[in-house]
Amino acid sequence: MCGIFGYKWQRHDAQNILIHGLERLEYRGYDSAGLLVGNPDGNFKLIRSVGKVSNLANKVAKEFSNKETFTMGIAHTRRATHGGISEENTHPHHDKNKHFYLVHNGIIENYYKLKQDLITKWYTFYGQTDSEVIANLLEDQRNGNFMETVENVLWMIRWAYALLIVSTYAPDEIIAVRLWSPLLFSYNERGEYFFSSDKQALAGYADKLIYLDDGDIVHLKGGNSGKETDYQIKSNGVPSEKKIEEMDIQSLEASKWEYKHFMLKEIFEQPNIIRRIFKWRVDFRTNFLNAEAFHGMQDEKFKKIIFVGCGTSYNAWCVGTYRMENLAGIDASCEIASEYEYKNIKVSDDTLYVFISQSWETADSIEVLKMIKQKWGHTFGIVNVVWSTISRLTDYGLFTRWGVEIWVASTKAFSAQITCILLLALFLWQKRGLSKARYDKIMIELSKVPIMIEDILADTATIREVATTLSKYKNFFFLGRHYQLPIARESSLKLKEITYLHSESYPSWELKHWPLALIDKNIPSVLFAPNDLMFEKNTSSLQEIKARDGKVITISDKDIHNADRNIRVPSTIDEIYPFLTAVVWQLLAYHVADILGKDIDKPRNLAKSVTVK
Ligand code: GLU
Repeated sequence: MCGIFGYKWQRHDAQNILIHGLERLEYRGYDSAGLLVGNPDGNFKLIRSVGKVSNLANKVAKEFSNKETFTMGIAHTRRATHGGISEENTHPHHDKNKHFYLVHNGIIENYYKLKQDLITKWYTFYGQTDSEVIANLLEDQRNGNFMETVENVLWMIRWAYALLIVSTYAPDEIIAVRLWSPLLFSYNERGEYFFSSDKQALAGYADKLIYLDDGDIVHLKGGNSGKETDYQIKSNGVPSEKKIEEMDIQSLEASKWEYKHFMLKEIFEQPNIIRRIFKWRVDFRTNFLNAEAFHGMQDEKFKKIIFVGCGTSYNAWCVGTYRMENLAGIDASCEIASEYEYKNIKVSDDTLYVFISQSWETADSIEVLKMIKQKWGHTFGIVNVVWSTISRLTDYGLFTRWGVEIWVASTKAFSAQITCILLLALFLWQKRGLSKARYDKIMIELSKVPIMIEDILADTATIREVATTLSKYKNFFFLGRHYQLPIARESSLKLKEITYLHSESYPSWELKHWPLALIDKNIPSVLFAPNDLMFEKNTSSLQEIKARDGKVITISDKDIHNADRNIRVPSTIDEIYPFLTAVVWQLLAYHVADILGKDIDKPRNLAKSVTVK
């Protein structure tokens, strides 16, 4: 949640760089945005604005003159957790005397108690955020030494945070800290320094990169000559030499190309992303999976697999559990990270815990991962970004390299995830020497997935037409079974995310256990019913809905008697249909949102990266 950007150099208009950084981080939250710039003379300027970064940029354009020079600054794009979306709750925050300013990504769990204590000392608050409490604590604890003051306050606050802090007492300095929220530190040969919540925002600015770990503090300050800038890093209170890495990307500047929205562009990228995942890992001439792609996971002792994820990743995992059980013959289950954390988890040596996060840094999943590691469990990550926390903490992994997903709600990441899960299932199957004929059949169908998706993308006229009909309704049912149940769930989520229409998802057979009571002509059902193991059963469910005057849209490779409309997918096998039915619904959700005039690339209350718990 939220994006943080910081900048320091001897000369420059810091505000413009900060705005550019925030624009690149906007996918992380866009309730409001703000920045604070300053220079060594102690001249600070704070600008905040509700809504998108473009509102802040307009305000900055109006309120800054060319004559002003600001050499450093901190900036933030917010996704509110504590306190409403308002200008006073927008970061950067300051204490009541305006001596300390900060931007914060995360949640301070004990903020309320700390705030009450400060109120008894006559501290006043202009907003409701937990972050403002930190600024006042800094003022309360100040002892003349900026670094010590920060360290003292860190003992008092209970995570999670990434913080950039500046002070009028040390106007040429920035202190950055990280505990359970992502933060990177970087610089270039000109001596410009940057902090950012992710690497993408640094593309083109910096060429040296330091990945901060939990417990790290960076103190960036003017050097002895007053011209150069120095930094020192402490890890858990002790000075530390961090590894400096080269940026491996020059520019990740994203562009929509000819597409109307990022969402559409990313839907259309899926065939090539899947091809990219196959490359080097799968040889379709021999149907051989390259064991090296699985990072040394030669171990055959695993009898159970537990997938841990949130949101869309959780839905991908649910597809994975069916595949693991049906293909690799391994017991599998999927768990919602934020719930799993509170179970009394007994880790055993024959269980593999698999983690995925489409944003790379999902705090809830990382929390469980750390807990499993503490108990010496075996962990596997399906990860898009090599330096992400999940990739650094897991024992084994598979890099998906689906590229940067700009659109907030996931499409191509989901397809990449279910591709990787299938490869993992097939890899374990290959190692266990199960039926070769079935394995080969799956491989043949898998090789055709990019082409089959291209077939769907080639003609979207029917989808647009069905979307026009669906856009007139307010409530929906999404129904599926077996492999198609997680797809129904994911599709329902996608619709909610971008249209804000209400929908429920159910296993179709469960309708009779009560949801049938809600079926009438005002609630259309979308039934995922390809010609798989559940086809016959699904057709019966359809008749039950029709008997109650319900409208049914089917997604299938076969026409189904009595369906009001069918959207065709190419014919394939049970394990492969999820790739196709998922893409059909992504397109449908997109077109419904477009017809309703929604802000598709910036859906409300969503953030790409949920880095707070
Ligand atoms: N808890 C802070 C707030 O509500 C920060 C949220 C964020 O990470 O954007 O303002």
